[in-house]
Amino acid sequence: MWATTMSTYEQKEIESKILGYYLDAYDDYSKQAVFDTAKDGFSFLDDIRQLYDEQKPPITPQTSSKQFQSEIDLSRYRKDFPILFTKVNGKNLIWFDNGATTQKPKAVIDALTYFYENENSNIHRGAHTLAARATDAYEEARAITASFINAPSPDNIVFVRGATEGINLVANAFGCTYLKSEDEIIISHLEHHANIVPWQLVCEKTGAKLRVIPVDESGQIILSEFQKLINHRTKFVSITHVSNALGTITPVKEIVQIAHAYGIKVLVDAAQSISHFPVDVTDIDADFLVFSGHKIYAPTGIGALYGKEDALKILPPYQGGGNMIADVTFERTIYQNAPAKFEAGTGNIADSVGLGAALKYVSGIGMENIARYESELLLYAASKLSQIDGVKIIGTALNKASVLSFTLDGFTTDEIGKALNANGIAVRTGHHCAQPILRRFGLESVVRATFAFYNTFYEIDEFISVISNLKR
Ligand code: PLP
Repeated sequence: MWATTMSTYEQKEIESKILGYYLDAYDDYSKQAVFDTAKDGFSFLDDIRQLYDEQKPPITPQTSSKQFQSEIDLSRYRKDFPILFTKVNGKNLIWFDNGATTQKPKAVIDALTYFYENENSNIHRGAHTLAARATDAYEEARAITASFINAPSPDNIVFVRGATEGINLVANAFGCTYLKSEDEIIISHLEHHANIVPWQLVCEKTGAKLRVIPVDESGQIILSEFQKLINHRTKFVSITHVSNALGTITPVKEIVQIAHAYGIKVLVDAAQSISHFPVDVTDIDADFLVFSGHKIYAPTGIGALYGKEDALKILPPYQGGGNMIADVTFERTIYQNAPAKFEAGTGNIADSVGLGAALKYVSGIGMENIARYESELLLYAASKLSQIDGVKIIGTALNKASVLSFTLDGFTTDEIGKALNANGIAVRTGHHCAQPILRRFGLESVVRATFAFYNTFYEIDEFISVISNLKR
């Protein structure tokens, strides 16, 4: 049973014995006991059960423990994150606010220091050594980013401030050029405000209309409703990959396929998927995809807009200035090709280097390993939390990433957040910049814990204990 496994697990985890946990959990699963405590309605638990089943070979005791441990024991990476050793209110920090931003490993902090100590210069135009070093570092970061999401070329990557700027760039450049008053843009009910408001602004300018795909009770997009909404007036689809409020992983591949059958371009907002599982733009086949570096262990103020070659070609520049021009006279300007066409002015050179360092760092751990470990954390936390009287988990889709949103009868979300903070546990409370989806579930505010690979089962126990004590 979970309870037995976890009371021994607590000590094991402190000693970084995640291997032991997995073997225990697998053992229990094979006795059909692990999931007994899961309440009805958590259909994503079935998914995890299936995951266990599919992954039987790598976690049987016959597997060499070395291989097994290197695959899934992620606790050893905690030491790479200096901030995780900070005390908050006299307690060890437990960072469950990863959906808002992630903590930074030493590799990223060191890359920034190295850049400023050895390479700092403006890029592309200088005739001196540091300009060449800085340019190389910036362009290497672009190449790393392209390879991380399996883009065909670094030229598919435009550096932006983050997901918000990437969406605004596409909404403005595409919307203001190609949309007319009878046209429609489709988004979903799950969207973050960053994937609603830019399109509303474009609609105000052009007269185009916003259409919204509804979600079911679990918080998953209803594909059949999407198929009903899409028609000859639809000119663009912009969809989240993972809901920041509910954790739902949306069927982006199917959405892209359906939209492409109508010749419609699709943007995928990968702000909340990029750090949790492998994101492959070639496989998804989206025309555009955006993400923010700070959600994947990189600095704030840097992110990426991926665009297919043809999709970037048909977009006019978003902003004008240096770097994006080939030639300027007072009569006309000739632009560079993408990505330079969209990078007006001095970019965030140092933080792009930080982004490259972060992507290299997580690639070293392996995004599959991260996905697998975080699924375990989510399953464990959801199963424990759902046993507390008065807890309601919001977002129970079959496919979920590391987001656990909930309410607790008799307590405001603010009270819960404060009680957790008093114990050094950082969660986010409020509407999470996703008011429409919370209101779909009759709520204005939820408590949201979001997990990263550096979180542990022991930390979840601490979190559960604070929530349980609130109810006493
Ligand atoms: N999209 C989603 C799904 C998000 O969760 C967020 C941020 O939380 C954003 C977009 C905006 O990201 P940023 O503020 O880094 O631009």
